[in-house]
Amino acid sequence: MEDTIYAPSSAIGGAIAIIRVSGAEADKVKLLLDRDPTQTPREMVHARLSLSGELIDDCMAVYFSAPRSYTGEDMIELNVHGGTQTVQRVLGALATLGFRPADCGEFTKRAFLNGKMDLSAAEAVMDVINADAEQSLKSALAQLQGSVKREITSVETLLLDALSGIDAAIDYPDEAEADTLEALPESLTSAIARVDAMIAKARRGRVLRDGLRVAIVGRPNVGKSSLMNAMLGSDRAIVTAIAGTTRDIIDEKISLDGVPVRLIDTAGIREANDEAEQIGVNRARDAMTGADVVCLVLDASVPLTEQDEALLQETQGGTRIVVLNKSDLAQASGYAGEAIRVSAKSGEGLDALQNAILALAAPERADGTTITNERHIRALELALAALRDAETADELDCAATDVKNALHHLGSITGTDVDASVIDRIFERFCVGK
Ligand code: GDP
Repeated sequence: MEDTIYAPSSAIGGAIAIIRVSGAEADKVKLLLDRDPTQTPREMVHARLSLSGELIDDCMAVYFSAPRSYTGEDMIELNVHGGTQTVQRVLGALATLGFRPADCGEFTKRAFLNGKMDLSAAEAVMDVINADAEQSLKSALAQLQGSVKREITSVETLLLDALSGIDAAIDYPDEAEADTLEALPESLTSAIARVDAMIAKARRGRVLRDGLRVAIVGRPNVGKSSLMNAMLGSDRAIVTAIAGTTRDIIDEKISLDGVPVRLIDTAGIREANDEAEQIGVNRARDAMTGADVVCLVLDASVPLTEQDEALLQETQGGTRIVVLNKSDLAQASGYAGEAIRVSAKSGEGLDALQNAILALAAPERADGTTITNERHIRALELALAALRDAETADELDCAATDVKNALHHLGSITGTDVDASVIDRIFERFCVGK
């Protein structure tokens, strides 16, 4: 029998703390509660929680009977007062019942193991919690509702079909031959096309989870930092600050029209004065690596320098936007190419820049079917490789093995076919209480 576990599920410092208990012995919590004895499952009642006659808190309590609970086990949730003293004392009281503190993600892990949700939905729980832009949240919520499982199941159905065709051809080579030649390639080909499309969409959709990478490059003093600050301005929520390892913050996450965007500012990188030109170019190159959009900032108030020219050369291509900053000053750059005029100082042109970034990157919007999880994408790629092998296999036996292999990789996404160690690694990254 699994241990009965407990953990605070709400953040520290709120007015109310939610403490969850799950497991076969969860009912024992009732021994600590003075409450209306007619309480039914899912009914929240006022209760006094005491240990050895001493009042610990005045709280609200609700219980869920297995399997109709988040974890699929008996559960009790206590809404207690939020102070650390109260929470510690309540947790101490629960420990006296022989329960143990829950590991990270253990409630959700149990929900998965008890069949309350598939693995992809369980993983989406953390994405919902971590979502820092509207589109990220929509996508995570769709996955929590089983969107990934639905996509995977539809491919699995095609593959099981292909597999039974192959098996029939192996068992009865003569009768099934015509069937095999026609039906088999069709379901296999459809499955390959589906997985291929899912991967392509997932690659575009990854930004919903990780953020669109926008690099701000330019020579010193053109106004990169000012522009970055203007973009992080009060009307655009700063969500996270990711500290660089050896330097100041160079990477900030914002939400542009609901799309998560990581602004990468090269201005935070320390100056080395000699060979400044080359350093500027190298810096731009670094920032551009993996960037979805590169904003090359020029100072519109002074003539272009050699370094500006070098950066214009270096950043040439489809993912670049030239930003002519300091549009509030007299114009003297002489730059005649296509550009967005902005003033980091007055804020003028920032909306146009935002629109240009979104138009250029054309980020995937959460439509409820995009796969965004890196682990899922890797499994899809492995499944695709196996299916391509099946397509070109000389022997039916080999084709069957390849299709089974692909099914295994697909099953690792939803958790129907996954190692315990993979499951452990997934839930280790969860927070306690979830
Ligand atoms: P960086 O080295 O590219 O990060 O440039 P900074 O953001 O530090 O800006 C360099 C100088 O230009 C600072 O004195 C800013 O105040 C000034 N500056 C930046 N943007 C503007 C702007 O839009 N208009 C004006 N007039 N000055 C600006």
